[in-house]
Order: sequence, then C-alpha cells, then structure tokens
Amino acid sequence: MSESNHNADFYNDNDDYVPYVPIKQRRLEKLHKYAKQRRVVDPTPKEENEEESTAPGTRTNVSLLDQAVENRKNNLIPEKTEEEKRLEEEKRIEEAQARHKALVSVQEAAAGVHYTEPMKTSWQPPRFVREQSEAEHEIVRKKYHIIVEGENPVPPLNNFRDMKFPQPILDYLKEKKIMKPTPIQTQGLPVALSGRDMIGIAFTGSGKTLAFSLPLLMLALEAEVRLPLTRGEGPVGMIICPSRELARQTYENLCQMAECLEKDGFPPLRALLCIGGIDMREQGDVLTRGIHMVVATPGRLMDMLTKKKFNLDICKYLCMDEADRMIDMGFEEDVRNIMSYFKSQRQTLLFSATMPKKIQDFALSALVKPLVVNVGRAGAANLDVIQEVEYVKQEAKMVYLLECLQKTPPPVLVFAENKNDVDDIHEYLLLKGVEAVAIHGGKSQDEREFAIRSFKTFKKDVLVATDVASKGLDFAEIQHVINYDMPKEIEDYVHRIGRTGRSGKTGIATTFINQHCSEQIRLDLKHLLREAKQRVPPFLAAMEDPSEKYGLSGGCTFCGGLGHRINECPKLEQQRRQQMSGIMSGRNAGGGGGNDF
Ligand code: AMP
Repeated sequence: MSESNHNADFYNDNDDYVPYVPIKQRRLEKLHKYAKQRRVVDPTPKEENEEESTAPGTRTNVSLLDQAVENRKNNLIPEKTEEEKRLEEEKRIEEAQARHKALVSVQEAAAGVHYTEPMKTSWQPPRFVREQSEAEHEIVRKKYHIIVEGENPVPPLNNFRDMKFPQPILDYLKEKKIMKPTPIQTQGLPVALSGRDMIGIAFTGSGKTLAFSLPLLMLALEAEVRLPLTRGEGPVGMIICPSRELARQTYENLCQMAECLEKDGFPPLRALLCIGGIDMREQGDVLTRGIHMVVATPGRLMDMLTKKKFNLDICKYLCMDEADRMIDMGFEEDVRNIMSYFKSQRQTLLFSATMPKKIQDFALSALVKPLVVNVGRAGAANLDVIQEVEYVKQEAKMVYLLECLQKTPPPVLVFAENKNDVDDIHEYLLLKGVEAVAIHGGKSQDEREFAIRSFKTFKKDVLVATDVASKGLDFAEIQHVINYDMPKEIEDYVHRIGRTGRSGKTGIATTFINQHCSEQIRLDLKHLLREAKQRVPPFLAAMEDPSEKYGLSGGCTFCGGLGHRINECPKLEQQRRQQMSGIMSGRNAGGGGGNDF
C-alpha cells in the first residue's frame, strides 16, 4: 500500500476528520446558505404555538427590528449584489432630488396649506362624450399615441368644435391652417379646460403652445364677462417661459386671439408681456386698465411683483412652458418665490418637450391630482427629423459647414455651444457671402430682435445661435438644423433638432462630432438615433456600450439620456458642482437672479 492510500484510509476511518476548506470558500458557502434560507418561503402555514425554528427567518414573537439587529450581529444578512447596490444608490439620488425640488410657496409650506381637490371650471366635454365609456376614450388615445396617467382622466377630444371654443377662435384657427388638434391638444386642451393640473410632455413643434394658451384665454374671457377687470386688478392667469423670445411669441399669439374675439364683439382682453430688456412703461395702458393675462420670464416677473406693479390675488392659472429648461437655467428659486405671491389655489400646468423625473418630483407638491399627458417618450427626438451625424475634425468644421449649407434650401439654423464660436461662424459666413445673422446672450436686445425678425421673415437665410434660440422658438419652415458642435447634454440636442420638422413637415439635422465630445454624450446620441430609427454611423456603432454589456435599460431618470444611468449623469454632476460652488461662495445655490437667459 502506498503512503498516500494509507493516509486516505486513515482519514476515511477517522470520524472527527474535517477536510480543510479555505476561509474564503467557507464564507462564500455560508453566504449562499443564508441567502437561500432568506429567499425560500416556507409554504406550510405554522401553527399558532408551533415551536420557533432556529433557522433565520420571521419569528412571530420577536420584532422585525430585533431580528434584523440579531441577524446583523451574527452577520447573517447576505451581502447585496452589485445590481442591488446600484439600484439603491439610484433610488437614494432620486429621492434626494425630489426633496430638493418640491415646488411650494414658503407661506403655504409654513401654514401647512395642502390643496386636495382640483380647481373647478364651468367647462365640460359635450354630453355625447361624457356618456362614452373610459374604454372608448382609451381607443381615441391609442389612435393618437397619447398616454394619460392620473386619477379620473378627462376624455380626449379630436376636434376643436367639441371643445366649445367661440366661433372667432375657430375661424382664427382655420385661417392659420390649424384644422385638427394635434395629439397634445387632443388630450391637453380638455384637461386644461376642465381645470385639472397637468404635466404635459410633448415633443417640440407638437402644438403645445396652443394647448396652454387657449385655456388661459377662455378663463380670462369668462372672468371679464362675469365682472370686468378694473385698474389694479389681474392677472387672471399667467404663463412663465424660460426665454424672452419664447415669451414674446406666446404673448403675440394670445394678443392675436384676443383681437379676433374683440373684433367679433367679445369684450377686450389685455395681455402684459413681462420680460427683461423692454421698457415696461410702454405697456402702462394695460397696467392701468387691469390685466387679464401675463406672459413672463421669471426674472422680470419677480421684479414686477416685488415692486407691486401688479399682484397675483386673483390669479387662478399658472403655466410653466419648458419647465425643465427653467430649472436647468437656475430659475428654480425665482419660481418658488413667485409661488408665494398666490393668495389661493390655482390651476398649475407644466409643459415641456423633455420631462426627466426631476420635474415630476418638482411638481409633486404643487400639483393637485395632476394628469400626466404624454405623447411620445419624454426626451425622445421628433420623429419627423432626419438625423445625420458626421465625424468632422475640429479644424475642418468651418469649411465643411459651408458644404453642409448646400444640403437644403434656406432657412437654416446653425447651433454652436459658445458665443465666440457663434461670432466666428457668423463672420466666416458673411465673408463667404451667406446672408446670415447671429444671436447669443452677449448681444443686445435690439440685435437679438433684429436677427430673429429678419430670419423669421425670410430676409436672412441662416441664423447662427447658441442654445438660447433652441428653447421653444417657433421658426416656421426651417429646413435644416446644423449642430456645429454636439451639446453637452442630450436634452439640448433634442431641443435643437426640434427646431425643424415642425407641424408634421420633415426636416434634416446634421451634427458634427469628433473626439472633443464626451463618451457619455456619444452613447446617449447613439441610443437616441436607434430609438428614432435613424442611421447610426459606424464610429458610434463601434462604441462599447455598458448598458448593452450589463443588460440595463431605461437610461437616466434625471436627464432622460438613454446611454447612461443617474449615478453617472453628467448633468447631475454639473448641477452638484454648481451647488457646491454656490455654497462655498456663500450664495444660495440655484438662485436665478434677475437674468432672463
Ligand atoms: P408649438 O409646438 O406650440 O411651438 O407649435 C409649433 C407650430 O405648430 C406652430 O407654428 C403652430 O402654429 C403650429 N400648430 C399648432 N397647432 C397645430 C395644429 N393643430 N395643426 C397644425 N399646426 C399647428
């Protein structure tokens, strides 16, 4: 018998023998054992007085807290998997964001005022619609790809007549070639007209401006008919926009509709444009005769409210257009301050093309039983835009831009991230004989207005702009959007390309990218292109994608980017950095100050 066999027999015969198992493996086995015990649920019901099992699990006479402490002491709780840890981390970040973003006035919060029922209006859908079942309403929603979430949804209406607008408004719409409501109007208008709070998510160019302007107009008309406004009274409702241009556009639409009503014998309705860079004395007449509607940017609005030029005592309607932009641009504190001027409950509507979770959290405490109306994924790109992404070296961009301008007839919009680039491109195009104008935050109000006017009226072919011009501006007929650079955040990309492909027309967006773009944004772009069924260029297709590797889906709940998760969100990181620097310099982080850009 060999030595080794001898040893084996010896060990086999010896009952006390315990084979050596390395400590790492022993720990692992222990963990597996307890994980199994924790997850297996005993299917046989226990007798009331049944003897307690010694195995870890639920014991009826020991509190869960004590059990948890005991388990922890005995190291019985299995370690969390990487995936569990990651999800927990995401949840923690999201909850912290939600707490930070609550949108309530300080007074209401202090007094514990909490509205529980939505506002009531005299409007209701036609009888035949009221008599339809919810299932029938759902068929209409399905047809137009509308998703509604929330208690007691309001039925969708797919023609303006059923919405009971006065004849001059129906004529005005017809004259503007607006024959049928778009999906966001089909659902958004009935929701807003019936007084419900709402979060409206719709891609750019989908007609959301009308969805919140018309209900305001109707509310103003009803108030005026009931009891005409006099000096110092009003507004009845208010729309807040993140940029001056966007505010002016919405204001002009409201004025046109009010004019149509007046021409037809309805009482005059007065709107006030409340934005930075204009002389408010020019609207002194409106201020003295009582204001029905205000369209404002946050900075100037705060200024006017502080100076008591008007008040929100009878204001019952508040709409925030491009609400996510507003928060991003640092207006959060201003908006919160504005809230404190309300004297009673108001109907609140938040509209945006992109609606990351932070806005829904932001709205949580301000909205009463809101309906979330969603047409298309929040943050998704407009499907009427053909997106072309090209790899262009930094030094070749300018020359290639000239070539790109040949792709379509004018008008063409060129976006660049910073002011200097906008000025350089503008100068280069002028040198090459292109009829171009430029707009950015460093230009005077007059220069900006001139640029926009001449571009809108087709006197100039190309508008070169920073992201200022991308935020909700409605330039008709834009054929082509060129992104001279890729914005740092995917939401900005969605807003930029959304300037074309409006009102059901097809547009083109060309984006230059190169090694200067971060990997994160390239991944977000890759996902967005795929989602919109666009061609993914080889240099993006070849990128290694962690979400594919680890089977993660759903993207970032903070910014809506599909190529990363919230714990890697560059935008959140940037916001934190800003908050930190705000704290370090002793300022209140996130305060918007008085600037309107
Ligand atoms: P918005 O998304 O509000 O910026 O609107 C984009 C453009 O669509 C504007 O020029 C509107 O005049 C136009 N529009 C709005 N509603 C409709 C509609 N129901 N049918 C056709 N065009 C519309």
